[in-house]
Order: sequence, then C-alpha cells, then structure tokens
Amino acid sequence: MSILVIAEHDNKTLNGATLNVVAAAQKIGGDITVLVAGSGAQAVADQAAQVAGVSKVLLADNAAYANQLAENVAALVAELGKGYSHILATSTTTGKNILPRAAALLDVSMISDIIAVESPKTFKRPIYAGNAIATVESSEAIVVATVRGTAFDPVATTGGSAAVEAVSDVQDAGISKFVSEEIVKSERPELTAARIVVSGGRGVGSGENYHTVLDPLADKLGAAQGASRAAVDAGFVPNDMQVGQTGKIVAPDLYIAVGISGAIQHLAGMKDSKVIVAINKDEEAPINAVADYWLVGDLNTVVPELVSKI
Ligand SMILES: Cc1cc2nc3c(=O)[nH]c(=O)nc-3n(C[C@H](O)[C@H](O)[C@H](O)COP(=O)(O)OP(=O)(O)OC[C@H]3O[C@@H](n4cnc5c(N)ncnc54)[C@H](O)[C@@H]3O)c2cc1C
Repeated sequence: MSILVIAEHDNKTLNGATLNVVAAAQKIGGDITVLVAGSGAQAVADQAAQVAGVSKVLLADNAAYANQLAENVAALVAELGKGYSHILATSTTTGKNILPRAAALLDVSMISDIIAVESPKTFKRPIYAGNAIATVESSEAIVVATVRGTAFDPVATTGGSAAVEAVSDVQDAGISKFVSEEIVKSERPELTAARIVVSGGRGVGSGENYHTVLDPLADKLGAAQGASRAAVDAGFVPNDMQVGQTGKIVAPDLYIAVGISGAIQHLAGMKDSKVIVAINKDEEAPINAVADYWLVGDLNTVVPELVSKI
C-alpha cells in the first residue's frame, strides 16, 4: 500500500492536524508520502520529513500553490495521486475543499470524515450528524478520504528522517485567484487543537456580552473560544468560531457550553469532548443529556461567580 497524505500548512509551519492524518495512514499500513504544496514552503517540507512514520516528502513549491487554491492543488493531487492506493487529507475546510475535487478529477468516489480504520478499504464514519456510525467499504482502485483528526491520536513531530523530493509539475487551473484574507489575531489557543474550549450560544445575548462574560473565563483557563451557529449567525462572534456539524469539530479535555441549548448539529461538533460542562438557565436544556456537569442559572451571574472561584 502507498498512501499520499496532503499536508495542511501556512507555508511556514505544518498544521498539527496533518499528524492525525499520518496516524490514520499508519493504521491503514504502507509507505506514507506527505505532499507539501505551497510557495516558499521548504520549512514545512523539512518539518514533514521529521514526522514519525513518514517515508517520503514531495515538495511542490510554486507561486500557483501559494494560497493553496483548491482548484490548483486538487489538480496536482489528482496527477500525483494516480500512483497511490490511498489519498488522505484532514477533515478541515482546506481538506474538504481540495479532496472532493481531486476525487472527481480521478473519477473515484470519496469517503468523508473517517473516524476508524477497519481494514485498508473499510472505514467507520459518522452519519446523521454523528447520531449513527456507518461502516463503509470502498471498491475504488484509489481510496480518497478525509480524516476526522479528533478520532486519531497524532503521531510524533520527530523521529522520522524522510527524503524531500521536489515536484516540478505545476498545475495552474487559472480559474481562481487569491484576493485577500482577514485572519482574526488571537493569543488564545487554536480552537480545534485546544485542551479547553469555552463556547457561547444565543443565550449570551450579544457580542459585547459574549466578551464581557466569557473572555475572563477563557483567560483564567487558557481556553480557546467557540460558539454555536446561532451566536455566529447573530453576529456575536466570527464564523470561524462555530462548533458543530457545519462548523469545527472539537474534542478537548474540557468543553464548557454557556447559553447553548444543545441542538444535534451543535452536539455533532463537540460531544466527543472528554468532560462537558453546560451552563444554562433551563434545567431541561438538551445539552444536559451529554454534559458531565451542568449548572442551572443565569450565565450573567454564574459565570462571573465561577471565574472568581477559579
Ligand atoms: C443544516 C444545519 C446545520 C447546522 N449546523 C450547526 C452547527 O454547526 N453548529 C451549531 O451550533 N448549530 C448548527 N445548526 C443550528 C442548530 O440547529 C441550532 O439552531 C443552534 O445550535 C442553536 O444555538 P444555541 O444553542 O446558541 O441557541 P438556542 O437554541 O436558542 O439556545 C440558547 C440557550 O441559551 C439558554 N439561555 C438563554 N439565556 C440564558 C441566560 N441568561 N443564562 C443561561 N442560559 C441562557 C437557553 O435556555 C437556551 O438553552 C445547524 C442547523 C442546521 C439546520
């Protein structure tokens, strides 16, 4: 078996999510090659070469891949991927943007969001917003799949000594261009990688109140901040903070849901957290069914009280 893992990165640093994908690749078994498509991304290739279990790194370094436009990277993945039995990427927005296009170009179906490897061609994946787990078997010559990172413990960042090989092939589809990006600068940990997440829902009432009530709690705990879709849709916080079926999937050691009712679409993004705490004024809120601890009360009173006691 030969597995091509698409590295996620920002041209400087390899994103930790790639380590979870390598872990899934190890479960499949076989030679693992990591593809770094970027511009000025030698440092990322060097980091990927150190990752435990990686046997080769392909570095496609070209301006066409600078912002990892899915149209260009997918064409590259489809071209290189012909020689592999498996192509894997993260179940992040980047992976979900690139891989279906690559699968279509290869004319194979793909499997999204694998959470377990049963055999090289058989995987488990959540369906119905995580309410059921399907076991699916691929009959394709090339298995193309995204990997839910929270389901696989990451491999070590060191221990490998793979060779880095340059790829000269340049795939510029010429149908999209990068215009600009706005990145929210934050001192807090990244949402999907954080050990502790404090999330706010519609119950916090406003963006101003979100920060007044939840920032001190997140500060005390060194937590990342998340939100429900209702809070995001209401404009309380940016949508990259959304946790859930159509947001980010998180599984931290501790997830604190404040003023969140616990709709299944929200639970789909956080119910694998090790410990869940719910703070809600409604003792019948559905979130309590998945919470290990729940506190019934007005968040405007109980959260500051909690902060003062930590
Ligand atoms: C296709 C689809 C995809 C979706 N994807 C997502 C997703 O990815 N993520 C997501 O979150 N949602 C998603 N949703 C929306 C989801 O169905 C819910 O509408 C949403 O999660 C509700 O957000 P909420 O819990 O913040 O709001 P509400 O359901 O309105 O709950 C607010 C909660 O706050 C409590 N509250 C109010 N005031 C206070 C107070 N002062 N003190 C304490 N508690 C208080 C209330 O008791 C209530 O339980 C999706 C929906 C669809 C149809």
